[in-house]
Amino acid sequence: MQKGTINVTTENIFPIIKKFLYSDHEIFLREVVSNAVDATQKLKTLASVGEYKGNVEDVTIQIKVDKKKKTLTISDKGIGMTAEEIEKYITQIAFSSAEDFVDKYKDKTNAIIGHFGLGFYSTFMVSDKVEIISKSYKKGAKAVKWSCDGSPEYTINETKKETIGTDIILYIDDESKDFLEEYKINELLTKYCKFLPIEIAFGTEKDWKDGKEVDTGKPKIINDTKPAWTRKPVDLKDEDYKKFYKDLYPVSDDPLFNIHLNVDYPFNLTGILYFPKIKSNIEIQKNKIQLYCNQVFVTDSVEGIVPEFLTLLHGVIDSPDIPLNVSRSYLQSDANVKKISSHITKKVADRLAEIFKKDRTEFEKKWDDLKLFIEYGMLTEEKFYEKAKSFALFKNSENKYFTIEEYKKLITENQTDKNKSLIILYATDKDKQFSFIDTAKEKGYDVLIMDGQFDAHFINHLEQKLENTRFVRVDSDVIDKLILKEDAKESSLSPEEQELLKPIFKSQLPQNATFDIVFENLDENESPVIITQSEYMRRMKEMAELNAGMNFYGQMPDSFNLVINTNHTLISKIIESNNKKSGKKLSEINEKLKPFEEEKIALEKLKEGKKEEEIDQAEKDKLSDVEKQITEFKNKKTQILTEFGKKNKIVKQLIDLALIANNMLSGEELTKFVKRSVDLIK
Ligand code: ADP
Repeated sequence: MQKGTINVTTENIFPIIKKFLYSDHEIFLREVVSNAVDATQKLKTLASVGEYKGNVEDVTIQIKVDKKKKTLTISDKGIGMTAEEIEKYITQIAFSSAEDFVDKYKDKTNAIIGHFGLGFYSTFMVSDKVEIISKSYKKGAKAVKWSCDGSPEYTINETKKETIGTDIILYIDDESKDFLEEYKINELLTKYCKFLPIEIAFGTEKDWKDGKEVDTGKPKIINDTKPAWTRKPVDLKDEDYKKFYKDLYPVSDDPLFNIHLNVDYPFNLTGILYFPKIKSNIEIQKNKIQLYCNQVFVTDSVEGIVPEFLTLLHGVIDSPDIPLNVSRSYLQSDANVKKISSHITKKVADRLAEIFKKDRTEFEKKWDDLKLFIEYGMLTEEKFYEKAKSFALFKNSENKYFTIEEYKKLITENQTDKNKSLIILYATDKDKQFSFIDTAKEKGYDVLIMDGQFDAHFINHLEQKLENTRFVRVDSDVIDKLILKEDAKESSLSPEEQELLKPIFKSQLPQNATFDIVFENLDENESPVIITQSEYMRRMKEMAELNAGMNFYGQMPDSFNLVINTNHTLISKIIESNNKKSGKKLSEINEKLKPFEEEKIALEKLKEGKKEEEIDQAEKDKLSDVEKQITEFKNKKTQILTEFGKKNKIVKQLIDLALIANNMLSGEELTKFVKRSVDLIK
C-alpha cells in the first residue's frame, strides 16, 4: 500500500470549496457522468483505430444508489486509469489547480466559481469520502483503488476488478442525503445528462399492469444518445424536429419554424432553434433555450449568451467552445460566446430570409405569430434590423401582406403629403376603429393593422429609420387632415356662430375625459361630429404605460378633439333652432354688451404706450369694472346656450353617435341613447 500527501499549502481547501460552491452542489453528478462518457468515447476511438481489441458494444454507464452504505456509484466501461494516471490526472492536476485557485482568489469570492474547472473534484462537495476503482485498458494493467476522505491525504493500492473501466464511489455526507434518493438522481440525470452520447442506466423500467406499477427488471436508459441536433439536417424530417421539440417542451404547441444550426468555422456549434407558437402576449417566457457542451447540459438561462431577442426562442445550442463550469458574468464576457451570439443572430436572419424567398405564402401564413420575434429583434439588434427589413411584413386592413419597400411603393402616390412626407396610416383595432378605416379606404388610402405587442415601439423605430415617413393612426384626425395635401380651407361658419356652438356642445360632453371643440370644413357627406385623439398625446400616454418614468403623461386624463363639421346641414339646423329659441334673448344681451365692449377698447387705447405707473388709478378701476360687466354678460350668454344645448336632443344624439364610432359609449349612456333614438324616430 502506498500513502501520499497532496501537496497543498492551504490545509482546509475542501471546506472552502464546499462553502463557495454551495449553491451549485448538484453539478457533481454532471461532472462524473461526463468524465465517464469521455472515458468511454476514448476507448471507442481506440477500438476504431485498432489499438484496443476488446468489446466496445456494451458500454452502458451504470449509476447505482445504495442507501444502506450511503453510496452513489458511477461505473463506466471506458479506458480506465493506471495508478500513475490517477496520480497524474486526479491527484496532481486536480489538486494543484485547486491550490492555484485558492491562492489566486483568496479575496475574491465571486470570481472563484467562475474560474475554477471543477471536474472530478466537485464530488467532495457532497461526499465524506470518494473512491476510484479503476482498471486501465492497457495490457497487463492492474486494477487500483484510490481513496480520499477530503483531507489532503489519500491512499492508493492494488485491488481486484474484472472489467476494464472505472467505478467512482461517493460516500454521500449527511448534509447531502438527498442525493441518495432515486427521484433526486433521476431529476439530475434528466436535467444534465438527457442527451449524453453514451447510454446511461439508472434504476429499472416500470410498467403498469392491472392498475399497479410493476418493476420489469429491465435497466432504464435515461438518455437519448443521438438527439436531433447532432444529426444531419438531410436525415431529419419535419416530424423529427417536431418530436424533438415535444421531448424538450412536452406541453407546448407545435413550433412555427425551426432553424438547424451547424457551424464548424470559426468555432464549433450545432443546435436547433424553434420559433414557438405563442397563444397570448402574456405567455412570453424567456430562458427556454438550453445550452449544451458536447451534449452535456450547461444552463438554461441564456440571457447575455444569446442575443436578447432570441431568448424568446426555444431549442438547444451545443458548442464545445462554450466553457463549462463558469459563472454567468464570465460567460457573458467570453470572446467565443460573443462571437457565437452574433453568429446565431446572422443564422436566424438568413434562415428567415430563405424561408421568405422560397415560400412566401407559407411565410405570410405564419407572419402573425412570427411578427413578435422579428419586431423584437429589429428593435433590439441593429444587425438583425438590417437583414430583417427585407422580409419584415406589414399587414393591411384587408389582410394583405407587404414588405416595407412594397408598401412604400403602394402608397406613395396617394399618401404623400404637401411636405413630401409619406404618411402611413394605421389602426390598432380593426373593429373599434372600423368607421375611421372605412372612411380612409373610401378616400383611396390604405390602412395597416398594427395591433402587436411591440408595434407602438416598432412604429417609433421605423420613423427613425425610414426617411420622410410618418405613422398616423386613422382616428387621430378627420380624414382631410390625416394627410395634408394643401392648406386647410377656412371654416364656413362665422367666428360668432362657432362661439355659439361651443357652449351648446360642451353642455353634453362626457365628464370622464377632456374634449377640445374644433371646427372643420369637411364635406357635407361626412359625419357632422367626429371624435379624434391626437397622435402625439396618444403615443405619449401609451409610452407612459410602458415606461414607469413617464408618469406625467400617464396621469393625464384622456384628451380628445370633438370635431364639428361646419358644412353639415344638422349643424346649421342647430344654429337655426338656437336662433329661434334664444336668438332674441341673446341679441338683447349683445345690445347691452356693445357699449361696454366699445368702452373697453377706448380705455385700452388710452393705456397704449404708457408704463404701468403712469396710468391713472381711476382709469385702471374703470377698466376692471368694464371687464367685469363684460364677463357677466358673457356668462349669461353661455348660460342661455348651455340651457339650450342640454335640452337639445340632436346635440346629444350627434355626440353619442361620434362616441359610438369610437367605441366610447357604454352602459347607462348607451341605453339612454337607444331610448332617445326610438323617441326621435317616433
Ligand atoms: P477534466 O475532466 O476537466 O479533465 P476532471 O478533474 O474531471 O477534469 O478529471 C481529470 C482527469 O481524470 C480527466 O481528464 C481524465 O483523464 C481522468 N478521469 C476522470 N474520470 C475518469 C474516468 N471515469 N475514466 C477515466 N479517466 C478519468
